Amino acid sequence: MKKILNFINGEYVESVSGEWLDNTNPATGEVYSQVTNSNDKDVLNAIKAAKGAQENWTRTSVEKRVEIIRKMATLIKEREEELALMETIDNGKPISVSSSVDIPRASRNFEFFADVMTQYSTDSYNEHGVLNYVKRYPLGIVTCISPWNLPMYLFTWKIAPALITGNCVLAKPSEVTPMTASILGEIANKAGMPAGVLNIIHGEGHRVGDELVTNPAVKAVSFTGSTATGKVISKLAGEHLKKCSLEMGGKNPNIIFDDCDYNKALSTSVAAAFANQGQICLCGSRIFVEKSIYEKFKNDFVEKAKSLASKQGDPQDPKTRQGALVSEAHFNKVMSCIQQAVDEGGKILCGGERHGDKGFFVQPTVIEGLSHECVTNQEEIFGPVGVLIPFETEEEAIIMANSTKYGLGASLWTENVNKAHRVADKIDSGIVWINTWMLRDLRIPFGGMKESGMGREGGTYSLNFFTEPKNICLKFNGDL
Ligand code: NAD
Repeated sequence: MKKILNFINGEYVESVSGEWLDNTNPATGEVYSQVTNSNDKDVLNAIKAAKGAQENWTRTSVEKRVEIIRKMATLIKEREEELALMETIDNGKPISVSSSVDIPRASRNFEFFADVMTQYSTDSYNEHGVLNYVKRYPLGIVTCISPWNLPMYLFTWKIAPALITGNCVLAKPSEVTPMTASILGEIANKAGMPAGVLNIIHGEGHRVGDELVTNPAVKAVSFTGSTATGKVISKLAGEHLKKCSLEMGGKNPNIIFDDCDYNKALSTSVAAAFANQGQICLCGSRIFVEKSIYEKFKNDFVEKAKSLASKQGDPQDPKTRQGALVSEAHFNKVMSCIQQAVDEGGKILCGGERHGDKGFFVQPTVIEGLSHECVTNQEEIFGPVGVLIPFETEEEAIIMANSTKYGLGASLWTENVNKAHRVADKIDSGIVWINTWMLRDLRIPFGGMKESGMGREGGTYSLNFFTEPKNICLKFNGDL
């Protein structure tokens, strides 16, 4: 059985404890590999390696760092097919998605941050005989923690900017989907990354979390995952005055006005609810529909969800459009959320059941008849569950959209440009898409408001996070 090892100081090693976690293929429910389950001792070993590598890496020219990071992008591209299959087996997502979205984006993350780094400049002000300029320094050793829903995509989104700015990295992928991250060690070595610069620590978060956050050598923590874990990390980081960036949960509204481009709104709303089996932090799970088109939209939406359900099955089949949920635990959570929706008075319009008799598949599920204030519409489900809610006025839609503790993303659909901007302005979320969903420019600040996030990632926002600015102020002699 395949064993997934830590990558510390340029070498693959078993965790100090010698303990293992089973890694399951969610499409079959079978254990197909084992991942080493680290603890604080492994983190200390990784920190020792990072300390050994830090000075040289910081001094390595930007040109050389860019070259290595670009090489990593190329090497991922060369192994795209193999990595996409690994991601699909590990996560349960359709191969059509891992090969067209996840792995190309992982490669793009390295390429993109290499590009951004070559253009990265700092401020300078020169007036009244005073020159002020800013230098930016790598922080030193930083921790990057990522979730299971977009495993390689989000793992690389953090480590690429951390590395390119000259930091040594302690990287912690999700223990639920460790496979593709484990390959990055090989890729880093082949790309010429010096030993100790990138260290990958596998295993359960709670066993390594304290050391990864609180060790005095760690200067910053970049985390993507649930709001509950984000709060734990934020508390520890706060106590130890660590710089901290948190990308957390979402419960995103999708507002359909009756003057929208109907077909576009309909098909994109289905994708927004069910892409990646609803396991994207940006999924539009609360679908607010203007009353005048509610019945028609409902019927068409359910029809499309059923059609998607007919393409659910083996994630390795290129024709599959809907795969499995990531794990048995998550399957049980989503099924209990569906039950809760029923208990709260919701009517299931389609889905609501397990698909097949093995693995962790949940049918695309559409529900109506629930208040925007009930638990189903307030808490993140993170599964293929969309709830339809009618509204009568713009004001009502805005109030309902803003009614959760989350504020990550939102979509709205209207051909009225004034209304579009007016509503976008009033929605409390880090991003508002008008007549689209999930359209990402990697240069923009990405992140959430309220309990969805703290800080922003993307382009220079990421580079700023992983560097410390210093102001140098020179007073000229004479009259300059
Ligand atoms: P999670 O919080 O359970 O785990 C995320 C990571 O944190 C994993 O690597 C895990 O091992 C680690 N971890 C767990 N406990 C820890 C601790 N005490 N200390 C340090 N690390 C710890 O989240 P998940 O279930 O893997 O991912 C799903 C969640 O992620 C959803 O809530 C989703 O909305 C969110 N998410 C957010 C974004 C975003 O950009 N805002 C993107 C993707 C996913």
